[in-house]
Amino acid sequence: MLIVQKFGGTSVANLERIRAVGDRVCKSRAEGHQVVVVLSAPAGETDQLLRLASEISAEPDPRECDNLVALGEQKSAALLGLYLKAQNVPCVSLSGWQVPILTDTDHGKARILQIDPERMHRELHSGKIVIVTGFQGVSETGDVTTLGRGGSDTSAVALAAALKADLCEIYTDVDGVYTADPRIVAEPKLLKAISYEEMMELADAGAKVLQTRSVEVAAKHRVPLKVRSSFRSHPGTSVVSENESLEKILVAGVTLNKNESKIAIRRIPSGQGVLAKFFAPLAEAGINVDMIVENLGADGMTDLAFTVAKADLRITMKFAESVAKKLGAGLVEAASDIAKISIVGLGMRTHAGVAYQIFQILADLGITVQMVTTSEIKVSLVVAIGDAEKAVRALHTAFGLEKDA
Ligand code: ADP
Ligand code: ASP
Ligand code: MG
Repeated sequence: MLIVQKFGGTSVANLERIRAVGDRVCKSRAEGHQVVVVLSAPAGETDQLLRLASEISAEPDPRECDNLVALGEQKSAALLGLYLKAQNVPCVSLSGWQVPILTDTDHGKARILQIDPERMHRELHSGKIVIVTGFQGVSETGDVTTLGRGGSDTSAVALAAALKADLCEIYTDVDGVYTADPRIVAEPKLLKAISYEEMMELADAGAKVLQTRSVEVAAKHRVPLKVRSSFRSHPGTSVVSENESLEKILVAGVTLNKNESKIAIRRIPSGQGVLAKFFAPLAEAGINVDMIVENLGADGMTDLAFTVAKADLRITMKFAESVAKKLGAGLVEAASDIAKISIVGLGMRTHAGVAYQIFQILADLGITVQMVTTSEIKVSLVVAIGDAEKAVRALHTAFGLEKDA
């Protein structure tokens, strides 16, 4: 088999762990597999590099910043290459540009356009383990780009798709995908399998175990994907198509996202295209708006609230205040002390009343729901940040997601 094995930051946090990764990939090779290893930067390294960038520059230039933050993954890849070669294991480490992994020019959140598998196939055929830096590529203009936080997952899946690999394994610091983040819920259930669609929604709603884009790429190219522990030999979680034998469950998981802020604009005089006026400058600036709630009152005044990533709050407020002023709207308020909870499950398509159940559970706890949005397989709600973890635990229990005793 041709297997892509990706190891996250904690799995390559120090030399001892890099040696353990080396031993694991050697084992797969000894079993007769061709192995492409994708590595993250050692845990904390990317944060540290980003800190340096903002210490030396108030507004770090995105191109230079990518040159800097790409170093973390290069360090892991080169160290693994050194370890394997010291054991006389044939291997080669490659940076994104050496593969090459071609991306667009959107520094800091570039998208992969194309991967040329020729060199990797050649190296594999000559018996080598191929080590590739995660998180990065090279743009059409020849510059180093990075794929956004958690991007090594996407590197691994995209490489698996380009190589037509038989399997892509994501090795991390938990046993697989759980019904909730084990850091928040004490006894979540480990899922044997989950559909691409549910995994995509969970990732998008804050379950950082996989980067959302990686699941999108896996679904599009039908890459067989597995999330497993780097430290324990557990079979992990398979991410599969919906029609593959999945347990029939109502809710697959509950997530928490503390990285969004809410902006509320009161009493906007209604008129043609009012909403478009608020969202046009955001779209132009590439700012993603997540939840949107609008309410047109009987007096012809509209109240609008929406959420954006905390990192985009300052610039979003500037735009919102300027449009509000032009339109003669009332107060523009920002709140960062909020959190978004999402409940995801394919079963919601056919099962009515999930939103009602959620509201009842939260009402019993005295928790106020500030915003709600629903889609076919997801309900998301905004609550005060102080109530969020309690709410996640209560919902997780109420939907029967705790580990079987
Ligand atoms: P890596 O460095 O290996 O990429 P990440 O920290 O990006 O690892 O992702 C793994 C983490 O994701 C876990 O430690 C866990 O706290 C978190 N996580 C959040 N939600 C979930 C979930 N539903 N299932 C498993 N892990 C989750
Ligand atoms: N090192 C990058 C990050 O910390 C990419 C990754 O680990 O997936 O976000
Ligand atoms: Mg990750």
